[in-house]
Amino acid sequence: MITLRVRRIEGLSPGFTSVTLGGPGLRDLVVAGGDQAVRLFFPREGQAALRMPTASSEAWMAQVMLMPKSARPRVRNLTIRRARPGEDEVDIEFARHGDSPLSSWLRRVRPGDPAGLFDLGTTYRAPEPSRPQLLVGDETALPAVLAILDQAPSSLTAEVHLEVPTRADVRDVVVPPGVRIHWVTREDAPGRRPGTVVLEAVRRAELPPGRLHAWVAGESRLATSVRRHLVGDRGVPKADISFAGYWRHGWSTPD
Ligand SMILES: Cc1cc2nc3c(=O)[nH]c(=O)nc-3n(C[C@H](O)[C@H](O)[C@H](O)COP(=O)(O)OP(=O)(O)OC[C@H]3O[C@@H](n4cnc5c(N)ncnc54)[C@H](O)[C@@H]3O)c2cc1C
Repeated sequence: MITLRVRRIEGLSPGFTSVTLGGPGLRDLVVAGGDQAVRLFFPREGQAALRMPTASSEAWMAQVMLMPKSARPRVRNLTIRRARPGEDEVDIEFARHGDSPLSSWLRRVRPGDPAGLFDLGTTYRAPEPSRPQLLVGDETALPAVLAILDQAPSSLTAEVHLEVPTRADVRDVVVPPGVRIHWVTREDAPGRRPGTVVLEAVRRAELPPGRLHAWVAGESRLATSVRRHLVGDRGVPKADISFAGYWRHGWSTPD
């Protein structure tokens, strides 16, 4: 359990905000890179302080649930977009949306405010460098995909399909020559369930030849549908696909 302070908050584009957290507690974080995820603890509206659990095992969850709601922190899963161990800092990039607890924290958070982390580790396992990769995600998976690409070898061959809310959320990304990023947005399809536009793009896409390694994350129906498509229509073995539902449309994190 690592307690930190917010150092900087930066709007990246209409749909994304970056928050830099820092403090000596980060010396206890083993930076694994890739899609390394954390539980982020932050105060509820009206709470002046952050009360962190103390158990550095899954027992933290019971500790949190036993706290009275007035003292209990909120907890959400996020990705470490970038770590700067020498400066005791990590950046987290948030896809803002609607009026959720996380979006509301992003509106009120200020430098100096407390926040906490609990490491969840990584699921992305780079295959042998000769194998082509397929990376697919919605806006919640963008930080993980960009972190994976930051660390990719220059020999990487990959097709990357990303969905973000608007054209202004598309990033300029420098990638190895064998990597092609295909951006889609919901700008011309307002109201569409996130993940559906990129799912259609993957269904139409030409996949790289050779034994593919696929990594898919985002809205849970996107993750399961891409996996089903790859297995059923493209013959990709299940063992070659890593997929994760990062959030579920219409389902709120219980807290
Ligand atoms: C391993 C992992 C890594 C993740 N990394 C990131 C990350 O780096 N950046 C990031 O932004 N998110 C990331 N997420 C997703 C994030 O945890 C969820 O989106 C989370 O539900 C947001 O909490 P909330 O308080 O906004 O909404 P909740 O309280 O969980 O839900 C409230 C409502 O908002 C809806 N909702 C939740 N998220 C979204 C969304 N993105 N767009 C539209 N509606 C939504 C829910 O369906 C629900 O109706 C990650 C999730 C996992 C599991």
